[in-house]
This record gives sequence, structure tokens and C-alpha cells, in this order.
Amino acid sequence: MFDKIVAELARALNRKEISSVELTRTFLDRINKYKSLNAFITVDPERSLAQAKAADARIARGEGGALTGVPIAQKDIFCADGWLTTCGSKILSNFVAPYDATTIEKFNKAGAVCLGKTNMDEFAMGSSNETSYYGVVKNPWGIDRVPGGSSGGSAAAVAARLAPAATGTDTGGSIRQPASLTSLTGLKPSYGRVSRYGMIAFASSLDQGGPMCRTAEDCALLLNTMAGFDPRDSTSVDEPVPDYTQGLNQDIKGLRIGLPREYFSKGLSSEVAQVIETAIGEYKKLGAQIVQVSLPNSQLAIPCYYVLAPAEASSNLSRFDGARYGYRAKDYTDLLDMYCKTRAEGFGAEVKRRIMIGTYALSAGYYDAYYLKAQQLRRLIAEDFRKAFESCDVIMGPTTPTTAFKIGEKSDDPVAMYLSDIYTISVNLAGLPGMSIPAGFAPDGLPVGLQLIGQYF
Ligand code: GLN
Repeated sequence: MFDKIVAELARALNRKEISSVELTRTFLDRINKYKSLNAFITVDPERSLAQAKAADARIARGEGGALTGVPIAQKDIFCADGWLTTCGSKILSNFVAPYDATTIEKFNKAGAVCLGKTNMDEFAMGSSNETSYYGVVKNPWGIDRVPGGSSGGSAAAVAARLAPAATGTDTGGSIRQPASLTSLTGLKPSYGRVSRYGMIAFASSLDQGGPMCRTAEDCALLLNTMAGFDPRDSTSVDEPVPDYTQGLNQDIKGLRIGLPREYFSKGLSSEVAQVIETAIGEYKKLGAQIVQVSLPNSQLAIPCYYVLAPAEASSNLSRFDGARYGYRAKDYTDLLDMYCKTRAEGFGAEVKRRIMIGTYALSAGYYDAYYLKAQQLRRLIAEDFRKAFESCDVIMGPTTPTTAFKIGEKSDDPVAMYLSDIYTISVNLAGLPGMSIPAGFAPDGLPVGLQLIGQYF
């Protein structure tokens, strides 16, 4: 049962071939059995089973929907009423959310079961899940390897079949990169498609929640539930939500696939390149037409992002000061000392690095040179995509330059770490939707993901 995808589980539940309680127990047992992967920060079997029981009752009344009774793991960035919600940080290590994020509320309404809160890089800052206060997550495909980040716990959970699906968030690649490194299908929707209300903010103009599943069909099912306008998020977009399952399994004859020259140049490992080329060959066989496109400002995406994201983070994270909620330092002399010690003790090294970079970039005298410049580059990067889409319907390329790297390999070298998002970050800067799908395996047996970038919505 644990090896079935969401679509199959939903069918089995609706036909009453299994109960949600049974299914939830199966996954909880597996989470416990594979604890050493460290995929979850919090599990609360009592809560999950109560939801499962309610789902079974709902199905018995004939009121089940597409996800009723299906257990879903939630990234620990989403506030969930009554659940410890840490965002991977010590500073929120005692924070029990008093309300539901819109995404959680929508899953609850659908009757899905929250299986637990998954491990993640602290405040979603990272590409390897090594910055989490709760420790590294291991990649089920090779336990000496990182699962990617920041949604590394969600990725490891679904890859190891500890959950049939999970949520993630993607500010610069955090759904697509871990999906790629663990052979999942991960979708970052267009900016504004999924509400950010109750999703702890990292870089508000880039953050977007999305599904991490095993198939496109499952992603469609989850996105059907997650997507939609939310008056509580001023950046959510008031556009009708189509039924995403309607777009599945359509003919792709004549589809124009754009291959950006810059995504196939130096920096891409030959093992990954080979798998990607073979995958694209399959599309050709199915009748797609390949066109060369160019995204000339691609090399500016990382520097641009590492000004803008830290700038926004430095502002967003100012709320964590020990005064209202979360961790507070034990010994302090006065209010200022309390703030300083709380933040010094509560944040990890990567988060502090970002706060310092962001504060610097926004300070008087440097704002124009860094922040404003980065905003201008952001526009150029979005323009590149607009031009590329004049000659193609979808852009394809690798999701990551290499397969999963070793735990510890890049943790002392922030720049090397930042480069692992080289193909994903520009998509967030442009606000476009992107997804990573399994493309095959490199000779070392590790998974390779193919990235698909589409037009808005
Ligand atoms: N790895 C990138 C970073 O560290 C992106 C993270 C994300 O998408 N949340 O900022």
C-alpha cells in the first residue's frame, strides 16, 4: 500500500478498499522505522489518526473528495493550528502555531490527513537541508548524500515512501532541486497561484508553495487543492483555477520545446547532460519540435538573487526577537540585550549570513548600488524568458548541474552551495512556473531531474 501514488490511494479510499486510519498507520509506522533519515521534525500520531478517523466517516457518508483520507506530509514552514511549527530553526523551537496557513486549511477542508511536519533548511535557506537546527536529512537513494534543500525532509519522505506526497516551498529552487535529487515530480507554481498566508516568509517576492509527489497526476491533484485566490495574501492572484488533471496525457505532437543554450554549457556535469539529452530525445520521438533559445542573462541570476532574497529575508526575520513568541535567551540585562542574545542564540550561521548581507544591501548609500541594481537585473532576466517564449511553448533543461552531492561536501563553501540552484533561481526571479520531473539515473545510480519551465499560469 505504501508504494501507491495519491491517485491510486484516493480511488482505493473512495471504494472503501482501505480505510484512512489503516493507511495513516502504515505511513506512521514507516516514518518510525526510517527515523534515521531524519525526514520529519514533528509527528503527532494522535492528531493524524483523529483526522484519518474523521475522513473515514466522511467517506462513509458519501462525501469524500479527491484527497479525503489521503495522508500528506507538510513542510514545517506552514503554520498548522496546534502543531509545533519550527521552520527548521531554534528560534521557533517552541512555537505551536495558533492558526492554519491557507494551504493547511485547504488540505483540511479536502479531508486530507496531516502526517507530520517535515525537516527543512533553517527558514528555507539552503540547498542541502544541512542548515536545519534539527540536523541533516539523508537522501534515501544514498544515505551519505544530501536530499537537496530546502524542502529536503519532504523530498526524503516521499522518496522513501514515508508519505505518498508532501508540500514544499520554492524561493530559488527548494521544490525542484530536492525533487530532482530524489527522483520526484515537484512543481513550483506561478508566483501568486498558491497563497502565502501562514507560510513563514523568507523572501516574499519569490516564495511559492507547491506539491512534491511522484507523478504529474499527483501534482495536479494536490495543486487543485492548493491553488486559488486568497484575500489574506495581497500577492495571490485572482485568476480562475482550472482542473489541472484535464491537462494530463495530452498529445505533444508539434509542441515547441526550447532548449536554452546557457543551460547546457560549462558547469553542467556530463553525467547529468547525458540523461537530459536522452530524455529530450524521447520528446522528439513523441513529435515535439526542438528549438534553440537563449537566456543571455542567466549568469546574473545567482548574484541578483543573493542580493534580493537576503534583503527581503533581513526584513522578514526582524520579527523574531524573543518578545512575542518563539525562543528567548535566558540571561539578559535589558531589552536590547534580550533582542541581541535571542537572535544570536536562536539563528544559525547561514541565516545570520543572509541577515547581514541583506541589511548591508538595503542600507543607505548601498541601496542604489546593490538592491536597486539587482531589481533592474531581475527585470532583464524576466525579459529573457519573455523573448524565449516567442519561439517555444515550454523551456526544458536540467534542474541541477550535478546529482546529489555528499553530506558535508559543500557546507563550508556557501558559493559552491549557491551554485546548485543555477538553473532554478531565474524562474523565481521571473515569477514563472517550473517543475522537475524524473529523467533517469546517472551511472552512479543517483537520480537526475528534468526541468520544465512554462508560461505564467
Ligand atoms: N537554495 C536557495 C537558497 O538557499 C533557495 C532556497 C529556497 O528555494 N527556499 O536561498
